[in-house]
This record gives sequence, C-alpha cells and structure tokens, in this order.
Amino acid sequence: MPPRKRILITGGAGFIGSHLSERLVTEGHDVICLDNYFTGTKDNIAPLLENPNFELMRHDVTFPLYVEVDEIYNLACPASPIHYQYDPVQTTKTSVHGAINMLGLAKRTGAKIFQSSTSEVYGDPTVHPQTEDYRGNVNPIGPRACYDEGKRCAETLFFDYHRQHKLKIKVARIFNTYGPRMRPDDGRVVSNFIVQALRGEPITIYGDGSQTRSFCYVDDLVEGFVRLMDSADDMIGPVNLGNPGEFTIKQLAELVIKMTGANSELVYEPLPEDDPLQRCPDISLAIEKLDWQPTIQLEQGLEKTIAYFAEAI
Ligand code: NAD
Ligand code: UDP
Repeated sequence: MPPRKRILITGGAGFIGSHLSERLVTEGHDVICLDNYFTGTKDNIAPLLENPNFELMRHDVTFPLYVEVDEIYNLACPASPIHYQYDPVQTTKTSVHGAINMLGLAKRTGAKIFQSSTSEVYGDPTVHPQTEDYRGNVNPIGPRACYDEGKRCAETLFFDYHRQHKLKIKVARIFNTYGPRMRPDDGRVVSNFIVQALRGEPITIYGDGSQTRSFCYVDDLVEGFVRLMDSADDMIGPVNLGNPGEFTIKQLAELVIKMTGANSELVYEPLPEDDPLQRCPDISLAIEKLDWQPTIQLEQGLEKTIAYFAEAI
C-alpha cells in the first residue's frame, strides 16, 4: 500500500473523476470529491459514499476553496462540446478562475497539483500525430474556443505558478476518453453511437465520417494520471495521455453496429464548425517517462461500455 494521502479531486463526480475517485479510495487514500454537478452526478460516486475515506463537497471551482490536502487533481470542467458550449462564459471561467483558485490552494498548502488539459489545445492540428512541442491551431473566436482557449490559459497559469512560485505541477493533455459512466445524453461520439445503436435509432455521423479520433479506455487513462502524479518532481509535462490507435468516425460507427448487432442506418449531418479533422497522440514521452501506454484495445473497451449502457439506459 502506498502512503496514505489527502487528495482533492475537482470534478470528481464526473465521468473520469468518478473512476479516479474509486481508484484512489481503493488504494486507501482520503479523497475529497468536489463538484457542482453541472455534468457530474451523485450516482457516479454513489458506491463510494459509504466509505469513510471518501468525502463529497458541493462547490464551484470558480470560487476560492479552503481545505488541507497533499495532492489536487483538477478535473472540473464540462468536456463534451454540447455542454461546454451551453454556457461558454462559464466554461472559460471554470478553466481560468478554477485554475487560479486551485493553484492558490496548492500554493498555500504546498500540495502537488495535476491539471487535466486536453488535446483540444492543438485545435485542428497541422502536425500529425501530435507531439507535446506542437503549439496548435486553435481558432480563438470560434464556438470551441471557450474550452480550447480556457484550457490553454490554464496551462499558462500552471507553468507561471511553477516558475514564479515553485509549485509542483503535473499537466496532462488528455485525448478522447470513453467508458462506463459517460452520460447517455452528453453528445460525445462514443456514447451517442452506442446509445443510438442500442435503441435501434439511426447513427448520426457528422460530416462524411472521414475525420479521425483516437479513443482511450478510462481505466488506462486513470493509470496514466496516477503515474504522472507519482512521477519525479521534474516531470511536469505537458504530456499526452491517450490511445494512439486512430479510427475514422465511420469506422467507429461500423464497429459499434457490429458489436451491438443493431440494424441502425447511418445518417449524415453537417460537420460542426471547427471540428478537428484528425487527432492522434504521439505518446513517446509518456512511454519514456511514465512507462505508460494503453493496454485496452478499442473492441475490448467498447464491450465494457456497451454492457454499461445496456443497463443504464
Ligand atoms: P465530465 O463533464 O463528466 O466531468 C467534469 C466534471 O466537472 C463534472 O462532474 C462537472 O459537474 C464538474 N464541473 C464542471 N464545472 C464545474 C465547476 N465550475 N465547479 C465544480 N465542478 C465543475 O467530463 P470528463 O470527461 O470526466 O472530463 C474530466 C476532465 O478531463 C475535464 O477537465 C476535461 O476537460 C478533461 N478531458 C476529458 C476528455 C475526455 O475525452 N473525456 C478529453 C480531454 C480532456
Ligand atoms: N460525432 C459524430 N456524431 C455524433 C457525435 C460526434 O459524427 O453523434 C463526431 C464529431 O463531429 C467529431 C467526433 O465525432 O468529429 C468526436 O466528437 P466528440 O464530441 O466525441 O469529441 P471531440 O470533437 O471533442 O473530439
């Protein structure tokens, strides 16, 4: 058993946060799960509520917070385009004010702090696959900018607090991640396709389906988070965490249809504005510095996710 730590997870009742909470509570740590329930739910962490090491706190990261902790995982932020575009000003505030508040907390307590950044900092990339030194191609005034630029500014804050105040930071750039506890209505491609297939509804492909994404199963991602947090102090990132297997959206649709046995038809809808055409992580840095790479292939992960949605919807 690793030494017991007091760990704050912001956005802990969300999809990834709930899996991370489960992992850290199981390891015997004291976990404070903070959330404002914008996209997260109490159901996601219901099994943990009985555990005395787990504490739930309703709070919005755009307001200051006073707790005593050893580590902070900052995940609070809606991640699905329909949710982060619902109230774009609040999305930017969550990333930027949230980062300032959590960095301030880390400065006062001396806690190590992890930022869940995103492959969206690369925008619609002109370098493929994306390496961490690629500076990105983001439209600063488009509909995705509240999320992309908010996350970019949060990275800036993390690095300035590191240089200026010597904070111990860990910045992960997460690529598309999926698994149980995604919301059926969250609009992301994996949840949409599975839910549509299970309901026998048409599968909605935006554009011609030739755009690519790389899908990481949530357990693999959480392992990467913990390895990054536990890595040497000079391993501050940014580091890409994702699965380098790259699929077109049409291939994903066909795989989901095959695996669910659905007879859904494919319907084509317009590609949303600024939708990146390709995305695939170069994970050489994570392999070298964290000895981490995904172990769960897309079919395996989809099997678990389909089983979850078959129960949940
Ligand atoms: P999610 O929407 O399920 O989780 C986000 C959580 O943050 C939710 O529980 C939500 O209620 C909470 N939240 C939002 N605004 C808040 C605020 N102001 N104060 C407190 N809590 C707030 O999404 P997720 O997929 O679990 O994403 C978690 C993190 O990982 C996010 O920061 C996201 O940007 C990042 N990320 C996720 C992916 C992915 O594919 N899932 C990819 C890249 C980055
Ligand atoms: N997408 C799609 N049909 C859907 C939902 C999404 O074709 O029902 C496409 C979307 O346009 C994008 C890709 O799938 O090209 C991934 O979308 P998602 O919202 O999951 O994540 P992101 O665009 O942030 O990578």
